Amino acid sequence: MPLMQSWVASANAATTPFPLNNLPYGVVSTNGQDPRCAVAIGACVLDLTAVEEAGLLALDTPTLFAHPSWNSVMAEGPALWSALRTRLTTLLAAGSPAQEQLAPHLIPMSDLHLHMPFEVREFTDFYASKHHATNVGTMFRGAENALPANWLHMPIGYNGRASTVVVSGTDITRPCGQLKAPEADAPHFGPSARLDFELELGAIIGGSTQMGETLTVQEADDLIFGYVLLNDWSARDIQAWEYQPLGPFQGKAFATTISPWIVTKAALDPFRSKAPPRDLPLLPYLQEPGPMLYDITLAATLAPENAAATTISQTTSSQLSYSAAQQIAHHASSGCAMRSGDLIGSGTISGPKRHMRGSLLELSWGGTKPLMLDTGQARHFLEDGDTLTLHGSAHGDGYQIGFGSCSGTIRPARTAS
Ligand code: MN
Repeated sequence: MPLMQSWVASANAATTPFPLNNLPYGVVSTNGQDPRCAVAIGACVLDLTAVEEAGLLALDTPTLFAHPSWNSVMAEGPALWSALRTRLTTLLAAGSPAQEQLAPHLIPMSDLHLHMPFEVREFTDFYASKHHATNVGTMFRGAENALPANWLHMPIGYNGRASTVVVSGTDITRPCGQLKAPEADAPHFGPSARLDFELELGAIIGGSTQMGETLTVQEADDLIFGYVLLNDWSARDIQAWEYQPLGPFQGKAFATTISPWIVTKAALDPFRSKAPPRDLPLLPYLQEPGPMLYDITLAATLAPENAAATTISQTTSSQLSYSAAQQIAHHASSGCAMRSGDLIGSGTISGPKRHMRGSLLELSWGGTKPLMLDTGQARHFLEDGDTLTLHGSAHGDGYQIGFGSCSGTIRPARTAS
């Protein structure tokens, strides 16, 4: 599909992350104004709360945008998602007769504050990159035991915290926790010295299931409303001491950052891609009916305080071995209920080469090999004042589908002294 033309001129540039083909959903405010739902188009957003109030949405639905979150739309299901996207495409297309009525409801992006686009109900994070799992396993358990015995058979995950999922631009305070060096006799409590990021995609569940209900992979895919970039901030020293036998806890509970725009499944549909070849066949309930991944170009940049950013990782989501649909099908396979507003993290997305590693743990190989930045500074893990930003875009014929950035700056730990 080529670039679709819009009457919003900035949406027709090959370099905009937000052409008419994209139409990602967010929550925005300008100074002194209440947050409201909006759709990004070129260098502007269209204020959908105002468009709905003006009667221009013309959808046969209850009020969708009375509250500053996308949860109401998400809960309506795929028929409404499709009708809304079709209507917005018509309104914003070149030659739209509604242009004059809509123009007053366009807001330049530069004037905006971006808020959480939806209320997160629950957050589950997976471990779907074979390269990441192999790298981490090699460091923690040796090359022979790198992949856990279950890894090739199912998507492994842990239940995270929805309470501390924040939108891009929110500062991240360095967490404190129990730390124990391998040679120490006893743990102490203090600031993490091995603070890390994880480059991930987040899938947002729109529909719901009942307790006891299971899902095929296709049914699970049908529940997905859209995707965001996701940084699963990780305190490796807290994690290393606490993680056996029940998995990550405080080492990942202090913050998760998402990008501000929900990129819909419909916008990403032209970029579906197949999973890499499998070592072993999956059990029937996990087998995918078609390509379930996406070819999204991903990157991470690190900027020390008052210094330029260095690109430290470049990878693609087509490297994942399990799709969000397979993860959700697995999650529901016990009868666990899925709810509208649930957030599913892909797991760190690393590729086969060094520059494709999606965490500092891997890039500095457990803190043993410093990563050199373009500024000449070295990093093993994140330092106070560092800004870590994730970037993502899918590349089509003369256009791109962008996510907006997913950024956070590290602030010093809160200490008692
Ligand atoms: Mn993670």
